[in-house]
Amino acid sequence: NGAGFYEIRMESIGGLGANLAGKVLAEAGVLNMGFNGSNFSSYGSEKKGSPVKAFIRFCSPDMEVRENSPVTEPHLLAIFHENLSKNIPVTQGVGPDGIVVINTSKSPDEARDFLKLHAGTIYCINALKIAIEEKTRINTALLGTICKASGFLDPDAIKDMITKNLGKKYASLIAPNLKTFDRGYNEYVLKKFKPDNKYPYIPFTRDGQKIGYFNQPMGGVIPSGGNSIFKDISASREGWIPVLDISKCTNCGECDITCPDYSFVWEDGIDPKKGKLARILKRIVYEHCKGCLRCVEICKFEALTTHKEFEVDKTILEKGFTDGSKK
Ligand code: SF4
Ligand code: SF4
Repeated sequence: NGAGFYEIRMESIGGLGANLAGKVLAEAGVLNMGFNGSNFSSYGSEKKGSPVKAFIRFCSPDMEVRENSPVTEPHLLAIFHENLSKNIPVTQGVGPDGIVVINTSKSPDEARDFLKLHAGTIYCINALKIAIEEKTRINTALLGTICKASGFLDPDAIKDMITKNLGKKYASLIAPNLKTFDRGYNEYVLKKFKPDNKYPYIPFTRDGQKIGYFNQPMGGVIPSGGNSIFKDISASREGWIPVLDISKCTNCGECDITCPDYSFVWEDGIDPKKGKLARILKRIVYEHCKGCLRCVEICKFEALTTHKEFEVDKTILEKGFTDGSKK
């Protein structure tokens, strides 16, 4: 750009690995490819599920990096979960020459309409499917597509940095992660969209936070489902969800104590076994569920089980439970 940088912005939600992906990308560019560069992330102090932005800048080695503000008009925007666009104006600052890499099962035309993107080139990559198949994480698949889409980043330099980051401690994860990177590098679908007045250009703006230093409840408690920014944290999930089989539930309440996100809904009712007034578990609110699966671990009665989200019957997701007849 005019200041001499190639700029990348990653839009994500806590837990999907954007912070680490930004770090790996910047280290690969600076240490392995000879650029000057910088990287920092912006995220709150909350639990998993709050918005994360990672910023990466590269410039020639003879230029000093004096810029440390957020990337407002990215050459390349990476969106770690398509549902982020429901709550955050993720495409701010992307112009006709911009590149958007998005984790989605949608086609580029569908993704453009979903994002209401003014113009630019969209690279669609089903990073979630790749991560589930390779038993890795979506950030590595997205790094592969980002590398390809940039047109100048060296895949071997990034793979070397992924290997160094996993190191001896996680040596068994190196091979599947390198394969995940390669699949991200190769399995994308792209389409270029010219400005056609279908959707307006959205300039970058910085909104104030609703909860901050002066009005944050004591202890940093978030007194509602979700977080202080929005209540739908479904974009945190990495392909897996708990399913509640109400026919096996004893209403013991262990899951409710364990869930960090108030995802379980209870009502007064008559306990079918004891015939007395009791609190009865009715459903899971998937909007608040980040897919940590701690509730599945704690349930002794197999009333909660783990499933691939895209395989679960839609009526279960809407109702928040099954009576045991569907999975
Ligand atoms: S832990 Fe299992 S059995 Fe107990 S209330 Fe939760 S779902 Fe029901
Ligand atoms: S997986 Fe279970 S414990 Fe974790 S957020 Fe979802 S409902 Fe709560």
